[in-house]
Amino acid sequence: MKMSKLFVQTLREFPNDAEAISHKLLVRAGFIKKLANGIYTYMPLAQRVLNKISNIVREEMNATGAQELLMPFVQPAEVWQKSGRWQVYGKELLRCKDRHDNDMCLAPTHEEVITSVVSDVINSYKQLPLNVYQIQSKFRDEIRPRFGLLRGREFIMKDAYSFHTSQEDLEREYAVMATAYTNIFNRCGLETKAVQSDSGAIGGSVSHEYMVLTDTAVGENDVFYCDCCDYSANSNHAISILPVQETDGGFEKEEIVDTPNVKTIEDLAKFFNIETNCILKAVAYIYDSKPAIAMIRGDKEIEETKLMNALNALEIRPMEEFEVEELLGSIAGFISHRGIDTSKVKVLFDKTAAGMKNFVIGANQKDKHIVGANLEENIDFVDISLVKEGEFCPKCKKPLKVTRGIEVGNIFQLGTKYSAPMNACYTDENGKLNPYIMGCYGIGVSRTMAAAIEKYHDDFGIVWPVAIAPYHVDVVPVDVNNEEQVKVANEIYEKLLSMGIEAVLDDRADRAGVKFKDADLIGFPVRITVGKTINEGLVEFKTRANGEMVKLSPQEAIIKCRDYVCQSA
Ligand code: ATP
Ligand code: MG
Repeated sequence: MKMSKLFVQTLREFPNDAEAISHKLLVRAGFIKKLANGIYTYMPLAQRVLNKISNIVREEMNATGAQELLMPFVQPAEVWQKSGRWQVYGKELLRCKDRHDNDMCLAPTHEEVITSVVSDVINSYKQLPLNVYQIQSKFRDEIRPRFGLLRGREFIMKDAYSFHTSQEDLEREYAVMATAYTNIFNRCGLETKAVQSDSGAIGGSVSHEYMVLTDTAVGENDVFYCDCCDYSANSNHAISILPVQETDGGFEKEEIVDTPNVKTIEDLAKFFNIETNCILKAVAYIYDSKPAIAMIRGDKEIEETKLMNALNALEIRPMEEFEVEELLGSIAGFISHRGIDTSKVKVLFDKTAAGMKNFVIGANQKDKHIVGANLEENIDFVDISLVKEGEFCPKCKKPLKVTRGIEVGNIFQLGTKYSAPMNACYTDENGKLNPYIMGCYGIGVSRTMAAAIEKYHDDFGIVWPVAIAPYHVDVVPVDVNNEEQVKVANEIYEKLLSMGIEAVLDDRADRAGVKFKDADLIGFPVRITVGKTINEGLVEFKTRANGEMVKLSPQEAIIKCRDYVCQSA
């Protein structure tokens, strides 16, 4: 590819609407163009990277015996009604009508369609197991599309679905997929950690997320892990043993106390000269349009996914102040479970509340709290709290550590969550009908591209792992008016192409500095520069990853290039 012909526009500045470094670099280096919020055109450079990731995914999936197919992106409501998800899937499901007024949607995932296709074709246990996959666009009308390709509305996913006659066989395939996933991400140059996760709207019980651990701040997930054993879990699933179990506020009797304008936990603790862990905090939510109060020890935070699961809800959001008055008859800042009508409001107690004595709670009246309160008997405590670093590992009791992670893939044991409601069955050895036992396995292909940039970049631009770089080499003649330089650069370029090495020739009439900047920004793994030293028969070979520069003959540069690409890809 000649740089003068490449359909790319690099920018001098970072876009000002981007926070994540991968978003900034993808835009500035000309990989993506925004069409609308969370919706991007993948320009040729990006498309090459996506093709490389997709091919790695294909090779590894095919090696496990999975078969590729392609399902419709626009889907009729019927299949979704059959599984029961049409009503319950949140606003991420973009619903629309066709010209005949039929309800349709843009596919956020494909469990419904694949289950219906397979149940048409597979009738007998003899035809199972089966694993099929596709690589395709998905649409999720995310509430907060952000970080460019990390959380888009339209994005590319590999999704695989497996069908089995027994839980054991599903578990066997799950392990096969786990290995394939590790191989896929390793080949993309990305080390991943498989962590226990929450199954969210997809459902099912056992699931793992494949996380690229980053120190850049954009990983949207906190991952808790233990150095001493193999425990690791996404924050929405992590559990811990708390160092402090019992707290006592020291108040001798229960009474209502004036606390004018003292609303926050910190202010309350100061006001009473107690620790925050002697306050029982109430956090009010709306879940699936109904009110709930979550009670938790003052020094702890609610983990909303855990809360959502405990409420068996599909959507939750914090309650607005006016709703606190209307639905609870209380005042924001002074809420508690005392006197709340539990036939109308669901009240949950986090397990941290269990060890509390003589504590402080809101009095559900303006400017008043109750001190010296104790919990009623027979409370069912639930785990709805966010784990904090330093709390103890549930497996080996050593302190947990935390890091940020980007979820690039996900594997689930679904069981019969879709096959049972959709009546998707096979006949077993005894002629009996049973719903398929299913698994599903996703990889965010476009997110993986962005995650690679989060992991591999420097002040000058992207540092692509060779295996997924858009091109391997950028050949740069320093002075395009110098015949000798142009001739040698062309020869090197042609030779590399003939060896199957993906090369770009920067034949633009720009200053060398401009070309070097673009080379670094775009992130070619190798740059071969043909400049003045060609008089001594030497060119410059620069490795992007470590910045190393060496002078070599054109022939040596070509061989070094071949070796580097073969070794790293
Ligand atoms: P998240 O928790 O990040 O919203 P998810 O768990 O809902 O994702 P899955 O249904 O498991 O996503 O989808 C499989 C993979 O698709 C994810 O592991 C992720 O890599 C990718 N993915 C999901 N949502 C997005 C998105 N909005 N933009 C880009 N990639 C996404
Ligand atoms: Mg997921």
